[in-house]
This record gives sequence, structure tokens and C-alpha cells, in this order.
Amino acid sequence: MHREIVIIGGGATAVAAFTQVVRTPGIASVTTVDPNPVGLGHAFGVTDPMLLCNTSVDVTSLHPDGPSDLLDYLTERGWAARPEDFVPRYLVGHYCRERYLAGRREAERQGIAVSHHPARATAVRSTADGYRVELADGRRLAATDVLVCLGLDRPRLPELLRPYDGHPRLLPQPYPTDRLRALPEKAEVLVIGTKLSAIDAALVLCAGGRRTVMASPSGGLPAVRTRLCRPGRPLLDSRRWQRLDPRAEDLDRELTRLLLRAIGRAGSGLGLRAQTSSAAVGDERLREELALAAAGRVPWQDVIAEVIDAINAWTAPWDPALRAEVLARYRGLMSRYISSIPARNARLLSGHLDTGRLALAPGYPVGVEPAADDDGWQVEWPDGRRERFTHVVCGTGFHTPQLDVAAPGLYRIGPAVTHGAAPAITEELRLCDPHRGSVERIWVLGAAAHPRTAIVNYLNTAAKQAQRVAAQFTATAATAAAAPSVLAA
Ligand SMILES: Cc1cc2nc3c(=O)[nH]c(=O)nc-3n(C[C@H](O)[C@H](O)[C@H](O)COP(=O)(O)OP(=O)(O)OC[C@H]3O[C@@H](n4cnc5c(N)ncnc54)[C@H](O)[C@@H]3O)c2cc1C
Repeated sequence: MHREIVIIGGGATAVAAFTQVVRTPGIASVTTVDPNPVGLGHAFGVTDPMLLCNTSVDVTSLHPDGPSDLLDYLTERGWAARPEDFVPRYLVGHYCRERYLAGRREAERQGIAVSHHPARATAVRSTADGYRVELADGRRLAATDVLVCLGLDRPRLPELLRPYDGHPRLLPQPYPTDRLRALPEKAEVLVIGTKLSAIDAALVLCAGGRRTVMASPSGGLPAVRTRLCRPGRPLLDSRRWQRLDPRAEDLDRELTRLLLRAIGRAGSGLGLRAQTSSAAVGDERLREELALAAAGRVPWQDVIAEVIDAINAWTAPWDPALRAEVLARYRGLMSRYISSIPARNARLLSGHLDTGRLALAPGYPVGVEPAADDDGWQVEWPDGRRERFTHVVCGTGFHTPQLDVAAPGLYRIGPAVTHGAAPAITEELRLCDPHRGSVERIWVLGAAAHPRTAIVNYLNTAAKQAQRVAAQFTATAATAAAAPSVLAA
């Protein structure tokens, strides 16, 4: 069996897939399609040293198990990194790029043809003997197997600002941060959002001395952590979690019990209330949670890695509607604690709040309009107050990557022109054509796997997915070797 693989997307997920799949038997060629250099995707291909990972070195690795491969990479190059450190994201970009290049050299030594095609893929079409990947530059690439590794790069504008998309003083996302750094020092900036990308924006703006106000519907910043590491011994009763019935009336109680027990095992007898702040005002809550983190009084943080794995495993067999319904109930909690921020970022935010350079708005704007003199924005707050800003920056997240079935056997990538059916993704991460009912040799990993995997914005999840795909390739090669006439994936 000679697989000709096309990987769509070349970010960290694609590198995790490449480095694992290329070691499986029977690979003839691997072509990566991405307009950017392979390894330098949207999440980690940044250049700004201000932008930190919000995951520790321990879990920000292309290998999901064992000692952190990122730690090895950094140590070999003389960085005094520890597993718990939150390193700048650009270092992870370099790491992915170098691991891709090394994997490529090794694969070529084994006789595998490896290439990078700098273009966007627009569709995957099934053919008599496999697939054709269609590119925006008009080229077509033949493949026996396709790995779809699209990331998050299309910013989601809040409804309030959608009429002004393209306005020269509206930045739809903070990246690349050069655009924030290029704003005048006297700029007065409204950042919409209070989660991770909004925090990146505020840190860059405030470091340059610009007065910045952050506003979001929740008004709340994430919790503060000093590490996100895998625990040395299991803290969570994952087996019991996997047996919980998502429709049970006492689900909340059961989940709370499991979590409290795990946190109890992680901590030194500290109750959950003593590990978090209940302050109603955002600035105060940040200060209190920063103090708790600095004092090492946040053992809740040590169960997060296991919780992410447990949620992904628990919800993977469910149908998408049930997954969406159950996860929606816990969305607020998950985003505050699973996506909590490194203490370094919290310290910087707190410092900017103290100097008055940064403020957290007490409410969400009821109106944002270009000012009459075209010199910025007029913002109306819920209490009727009006305030001028020179610029608005959105840190409101990204659209999930879109894949739709335009016709039987034709999968379109990107914002849909016509609304085709959504393809199903099997538990093995394979696309399933709803028209033909066939399971394709198209695997979906990373953010595009959101219809199957609950928490995708995490390199460790993507690395685990890559491992599962590689295991399927190995198993198929073994089956094909045992019965050469059987050609099934
Ligand atoms: C701002 C930000 C910060 C993050 N920080 C962390 C973190 O600290 N730790 C962590 O674990 N996770 C983090 N994540 C989550 C991150 O998405 C995952 O870790 C993921 O594994 C990153 O790699 P990726 O390859 O999936 O996505 P990306 O890095 O976005 O790469 C996707 C690539 O696909 C390409 N692409 C997109 N569409 C096409 C197309 N049609 N044709 C060809 N190529 C295409 C893009 O050009 C891009 O290079 C972050 C995400 C974001 C957005």
C-alpha cells in the first residue's frame, strides 16, 4: 500500500500529524498545503515576544505522552526552561518549524517524497482512486489520504461592529500585533473582549503607553494559574467520569463531587473557596487571584490537564446536539478555568490597572459608531455615558473552520458559498458523507474537528488526535500486509 498524503494547513496540528504519520509504513509522499511556511501557523507563528502560551511547556508538545518534546528542544538550545513555564509563543513556532524540517529530512532519507505547496486549499473531491485537493491557485493535487488541519484565523466580529467591517480604525483581531504597535502613543483604544486574545491586545497596547479600556458582556477576566502540567499521579477519577450519564438529573452534583475530590488530592486541604476570589469587581478579583497564585494556593490548576482529557473522551461518542447542549451549560466555567491566564500576564494587567492605563468597563457598550468627524469612535455605555475612542480592537475569538458537503463526494473548505450539509466526523476523526453514507479517507484534526472533539484549542489535544490517526495508518498497513488484496483504510 502506497499512501500519497495531502495535509491541508501547516500549523502546529499539521506538524504533529506529519511527524507521526510519516513514521508509519507504506507512505510514498506527503504534501503540505499552506500559504505560510510549514510550522508557522496562526497560533504560534507570531513574532511578538510579549505573547505567551497559556499552556505550560509540559503540555505544549508535538508528542502527547512522555517527557515534553518542547522541553527537550528548548534545553538543547540553551533555554533554561522548566516543564511548568509559559514560554513565548514564537518559540513554539520555531520548535514546530524545526521539527517539521528534521522530520522532512528523515522522511526523505527513507525515500518518502515531501513537499510544501504554498496555496490555500478550497475543496477536496473524491475520485475513482482517491481524492483531488483543489487549490486557490488553480492546481489540483492527487491524494490517497487527506488530513485536514485548518486552524483559527478568521476573526469573529461582535454583532455591534459587523456594520463597520473594514473601517480603517477597527482592528478585527490583535494579530499580527505590529498593527497595534503602530498605533499612535496617544491612541485611546477600546478592546472588545476580556479573554485570551483581548488580553494579548491589552498587554501590547498598554506596554506602548496607550490608554486602553476592555469591555465584554461577562466583564470577567479568566482565572490565574502558575502552570498547566500533567500531574505526576492521577488526581481525577477519570473512569468514574466516563461512566456519568450526561442526561442524569444529578449530573451537576456528580461532576462537582469528582472535581472536588480531585482538587482535594491536588491540594493541601485548601477548600475551593479559599483558592478563588468571589470579588464582584473584575480588577479586585484579578488582584486577589494573582495573590493566591503567587502564594501557591491554587491547587485547582493541577487537575485541569486531566479534566480536558476527561471532557474530550467523555463527549467524543455523543451526537453533536447532545455535546453542544451539555457543554453550553458549563461554557462559562470552562472558559474561566480551562483557559485561565499565566500569572505573568495577570501581573502585567494588574500593574496597568493600578496606573490607570488600563480599565475594565463595568458594562458592555450599547452602541459603537464612527464619530461624526471621522476621527474615531463614539461609544455609548449602558448608563447613558458617552465616551470617545480613537480605535477599536476586537479580541472576540475566531470562526471555527468550515467544511461543507457541496455535492456527493465534494467537500468545500472555507466560508460556504451555498449552504451544503455539514459532514459528520466519526470517532476515528474521519469525514462521513451524509449523501453517500461513506466513511472517507479524509481525517479532520485540530480546530476543524470541533463537531467531534469538545476542547480543540489545545496543542495536546491535536497531538493526541495525530497519534490516533497514525495508529490507524499503522493498523491498516498491518492488515494490508496480512491480506494484500484487501485495500481498505
Ligand atoms: C491566538 C491563539 C493562541 C493560542 N495559544 C495556545 C497555547 O498557548 N497553547 C495551546 O495549546 N494552544 C493554543 N492555541 C490553540 C491552537 O489553536 C492549537 O494549539 C492548535 O494546535 C494550533 O495549531 P493549528 O495548526 O491547529 O492552527 P494554526 O496555528 O491556526 O494553523 C493553521 C494553518 O492552516 C492554514 N490554513 C487555514 N486554512 C487553509 C486552507 N484553506 N488551505 C491551506 N492552509 C490553510 C493557515 O494558514 C495556518 O498556517 C492558541 C490559538 C490561538 C488562535
